[in-house]
Amino acid sequence: MFPPLGSDILQPEHPEPAASCDVAIIGTGPAGSTAARLLAAGGARVLLIDKAALPRYKTCGGGVLGRAYRRLPDAAHGAVEREFRTIALNFLDGGPTLSATRQDALVHMTMRPELDHRLALAARDAGAELVESCPIRRITEHADGVTLESDTRSFHARFVIGADGIHSAVAKAGGWSELPHLAPALEWEVTVAPEDFARIRNDARFDFGVIEAGYAWVFPKHDHLSVGILSITPRYRDLQKRLEEYLARLALGTVVKVERHGWMIPLAPRREPLARGRILLVGDAAGLVDPITAEGISNSLLSGQLAAAALLESRFDPASAARRYLGLLRPAILNELRAARLLYQHPRLRNWAFRRHGQRLADFVADIALGDRGYCETLLNPASYLKLLRK
Ligand SMILES: Cc1cc2nc3c(=O)[nH]c(=O)nc-3n(C[C@H](O)[C@H](O)[C@H](O)COP(=O)(O)OP(=O)(O)OC[C@H]3O[C@@H](n4cnc5c(N)ncnc54)[C@H](O)[C@@H]3O)c2cc1C
Repeated sequence: MFPPLGSDILQPEHPEPAASCDVAIIGTGPAGSTAARLLAAGGARVLLIDKAALPRYKTCGGGVLGRAYRRLPDAAHGAVEREFRTIALNFLDGGPTLSATRQDALVHMTMRPELDHRLALAARDAGAELVESCPIRRITEHADGVTLESDTRSFHARFVIGADGIHSAVAKAGGWSELPHLAPALEWEVTVAPEDFARIRNDARFDFGVIEAGYAWVFPKHDHLSVGILSITPRYRDLQKRLEEYLARLALGTVVKVERHGWMIPLAPRREPLARGRILLVGDAAGLVDPITAEGISNSLLSGQLAAAALLESRFDPASAARRYLGLLRPAILNELRAARLLYQHPRLRNWAFRRHGQRLADFVADIALGDRGYCETLLNPASYLKLLRK
């Protein structure tokens, strides 16, 4: 469908001949696999590359909000272990206990190894070539393509999508500056005695007042609890202590096993435009997590979708592909994140608003989770903001 790669690309010295493709996507998270699936379905020659062998663990609550679930291909639905139509928002420092219920599930509980594996296989089934256990170490852009190298292999691509998470090698090679706001977070996989699990397994809860600026959560899975905490304060030191206190407070009963994991959540996008030359950034590599909910799967799926659309629509012309991607990202994601940050930069205001207008705001969170409402529409429109906070 597309003309072959130019023949004058620099050839690195590798014994194996370099594989060539239209798009090489680095990272098999939700962003990368979505882009790969849609590009392959659109007729592009796609390589989907990950440093890990799949399935691989990913530090994440695995909570797929309703708005993200709608973007999953059918093949990924089997990863859902539980569904919750009700979420609880508790202010454990003497504030209200709120809940919101909807007809549709507000959050679908998954374990990321299973979800991500299914997404990668869906991309492969659409025609992408899946390359596992292949950490990309060097990326060199040329006039008519990009060379990617691992220790043992090399690839030539007309375009590269960086879907390789917060420490993105692609973003570094492309000259982007560091992600401006990384929030530390812990995720512990906790197994409790069956009689305790039976007592706790029915509530998906978000708890405030556990940490100065941030929140904690319990996401019940098929046979255990994913319990986590995040601080929006970069380099917050006492996160583990806060999570231990939170676990004690939850009175989980007999804890049989705890697997401890920690990672960081990018709460603000990179400062420069998220496409340059032949490189596009998506998902966490771009910094597209919702700063209010700290939920990243929705925008990972969406940005992967937008990157694929931009490349296909521009027929792989570098200048128009970058322009098109940025044009799609702005209204769909970047403006939303900007509006959300108005609230997120004022956690005290948020807490005050929850105390004073609790149920209305819990319903607002439920609407956001389902994608029935957006931040721009709500916060930048004074009439709807006043309506939200009206007594
Ligand atoms: C503790 C915690 C809890 C969270 N809970 C939730 C939640 O419940 N719901 C939610 O929506 N979001 C949650 N998030 C955020 C969510 O996990 C991320 O936003 C999401 O995983 C981003 O997806 P992605 O596709 O951009 O990249 P990732 O899922 O980070 O995938 C990146 C991939 O790139 C690969 N890679 C990296 N470097 C290279 C390289 N050099 N070469 C080859 N491959 C490479 C990695 O192996 C990995 O597979 C949480 C985050 C944390 C830290």
